[in-house]
Amino acid sequence: MAEAKDADVVSPEAAEPKVEAVPGEVPVLPTRGAVIYPYLVVPLFVGRPRSIKALETTMKNGRRIALVAQRNITVDDPGPDDLYQVGTLGEVVQTLPLPDGTIRVMIEGSERVRISGYVHSDPFLKARIQHLVEVEQPGIETEALVRNVVAQFERLINLGKNLPADALESARRITDAGRLADLIAYYAQIPVEVKQQVLEAANQRVRLEILANVLNREIEILEVERKISSRVKQELEDSQKEFYLREKMKAIQQELGERDDRTGEMEELRTRIKEAEMPEEVEERALKELDRLERMPPASPEVVVVRTYLDWLIAMPWNKRSEEKLDIRAAERILNEDHYGLKKVKERVLEFLAVRKLAKDIKGPILCFMGPPGVGKTSIGRSIARATGRKFVRISLGGMRDEGEIRGHRRTYVGALPGRIVQGLKTASTRNPVFMMDEVDKIGVDFRGDPASALLEVLDPEQNNAFSDHYLEVPLDLSEVMFITTGNLLDPVPPALKDRMEVIEFPGYIEDEKVKIAQLFLIPKQLKNHGLEPKQLRFTESGLRTIIREYTREAGVRNLEREIASICRKVAKGIAQEKVKAARLTGKSVRNYLGQGRFRYGMAEKEDEVGVATGLGWTEFGGDILFVEVTLMKGRGNLVLTGHLGDVMQESGKAAFSYARSRAADLAIDEDFYRRTDVHIHVPAGQIPKDGPSAGITMATTLVSALTRRPVRRNVAMTGEVTLRGKVLPVGGVKEKVLAAHRAGIKTVILPQENKRDLEEIPSHVQEDLTFSFVETMDEVLSLALHERPRREAAAKAAPSERGAARPVAQPPSSVH
Ligand code: ADP
Repeated sequence: MAEAKDADVVSPEAAEPKVEAVPGEVPVLPTRGAVIYPYLVVPLFVGRPRSIKALETTMKNGRRIALVAQRNITVDDPGPDDLYQVGTLGEVVQTLPLPDGTIRVMIEGSERVRISGYVHSDPFLKARIQHLVEVEQPGIETEALVRNVVAQFERLINLGKNLPADALESARRITDAGRLADLIAYYAQIPVEVKQQVLEAANQRVRLEILANVLNREIEILEVERKISSRVKQELEDSQKEFYLREKMKAIQQELGERDDRTGEMEELRTRIKEAEMPEEVEERALKELDRLERMPPASPEVVVVRTYLDWLIAMPWNKRSEEKLDIRAAERILNEDHYGLKKVKERVLEFLAVRKLAKDIKGPILCFMGPPGVGKTSIGRSIARATGRKFVRISLGGMRDEGEIRGHRRTYVGALPGRIVQGLKTASTRNPVFMMDEVDKIGVDFRGDPASALLEVLDPEQNNAFSDHYLEVPLDLSEVMFITTGNLLDPVPPALKDRMEVIEFPGYIEDEKVKIAQLFLIPKQLKNHGLEPKQLRFTESGLRTIIREYTREAGVRNLEREIASICRKVAKGIAQEKVKAARLTGKSVRNYLGQGRFRYGMAEKEDEVGVATGLGWTEFGGDILFVEVTLMKGRGNLVLTGHLGDVMQESGKAAFSYARSRAADLAIDEDFYRRTDVHIHVPAGQIPKDGPSAGITMATTLVSALTRRPVRRNVAMTGEVTLRGKVLPVGGVKEKVLAAHRAGIKTVILPQENKRDLEEIPSHVQEDLTFSFVETMDEVLSLALHERPRREAAAKAAPSERGAARPVAQPPSSVH
């Protein structure tokens, strides 16, 4: 038990606290977990028997009592050793016995005291006390400490420590540094030991220092705590908030009576999103949009926009695919079932499929079908889909204005839609369809912006697993799609695209093939379409040939099919009206159904003429024959070229003219002819644009014919570029041109020597029907095409007007090459 002189138990700074004797001996009230300071009125609950006794005694003897904190709060009935040696002398202001036997007391602390010894421990603790004299130490430092401690206290309160509301107010009002320290120490939630240290420090500044330290620490701890808890809270809050908002919204909607419909709709959308099996980030995106949608007032115009967007997202075949079949034999069977001929094409397609089968992971090139219309490109594409068990979709690239049509427009634009690729996928509703893109050769022309790049991205196996459509805004995997492009001409296709593609050419059919295709496929199909029995309408072969020769002039069979359909329609109508029972279509009766023939079959001219020659042109609709006419007029050597000719063709005409002039002497032409003559070269039909150098030899031949009056052989057709010195250079599209000559009933075809190798591609029976002459010079051309001698008659009337009529009228080609 410590005596009064044992000053070392006091806080270190108060090394020599002054003590003074205080009158008498006082009962001691041990406090558990609390330290009471002078000048504070504090409530205490007293329940322990010794404490109650002490209190009772005090009440009888001047109400003074020493309040001393317990060192260890777990001790229930503390003796002298369990108590600190510094306490506070207090005066009981009020007692209030409570029904449970405890007493609530209000005690006002008056001064610090040191216990110098105990008088007795029973029935209650009674001690001798000494006065602990407080040391004041005013000065700037103390002032600063005061401010600091008040500020810290305030910070503690702000950090959310639960302190009585007026504690801060009182702290601000107190001017005495020591009392301020006591007040704060009492209220602040700091360890009891520290509180005790504050009590034991007689020096006021020391008290403040102890407090400043401990408060600092408290604040730090609180701040860290707060950070942690705010993080946790944030996470909790976000989900709670969402839940709360959703519930609230439901409630509001219910109030407004619109809940059922809308909630139902939203729930349905949510289910559809879940069922669409989107990749995770896409689903997240979709759900976010759905949330947005739910929060929108139903009348907002945005609702439709977001809904449409969600519908598109849901409609994408994220994870739906057809089971792919890769049985090459079955594929071959299907291709043959659907198509006549096209041997080479079928072989190439089967090779392509076989490679895919063997090397599934190797991303092969894109198939590209090139050829005139109606030769079965689409139809082969459909067969590939059927053979591989995939769906078939088809879009046209022709006439597209901008990149947006492929890639879509951003949703910020009114009425924005996804691009054609996405639209196609929606139609396919599987992620691995056969996706045909027609008219690749037309994109270079109409496209604004960057034509190739969007398409390149689609077709590039390295990139197309994350194709981005501006509208969808989420990456789309196109890597399982089998793309096939089609076009009429390879030349206009941008080179970068060409590189990606494996081109398969569809050459166009000769008459015999068309007859077979009609008999085996087109007629049965059209009969069925029109509900006719085969016996109700029969086509004889001569009937078919008449349709082919006189009603169509095409490389494919599109118009042929159309004419057959039109006959079927008429016959079906006749049968329905019971005018006829059955019909038989012969060469003669075609006219009854289709009217006057549109094309003259056979040689272009009835007689060999002067100043008109037959050339061979090449259009996107296949090859065709064309005529070159020359008229000479009095004049001064002007050369006029007409017939909608492009620059190259005009230059070619000028070259022909210069050639004729330079060779005048050899050709027995008056060398000065141009001084007195104007030359007009015309290529009908005038409204169809024509270009390219391949009419060069035809123009030169016609010109020489006109100048020499030597007639041109009517059963000869030619193609080739001419140089100023009369050399003949090779040209393109030979196969199409030869087929066209064959169709037109030409017998001899003059071709440049260097085009000889192109003959390989021409079907042998066509080769058998025709005579080919390969030439290197204009002289050879002239000797093959022109009669030896000039025509006798005087008048030089070339260019009969009806020659231009021998053109297809149904679909004028956009240009002739
Ligand atoms: P393209 O796509 O080349 O313009 P399509 O594939 O549309 O031509 O062909 C036009 C029509 O001709 C279709 O009805 C098609 O089935 C038919 N057809 C074309 N070639 C053949 C062929 N070799 N065998 C059977 N039918 C054919």
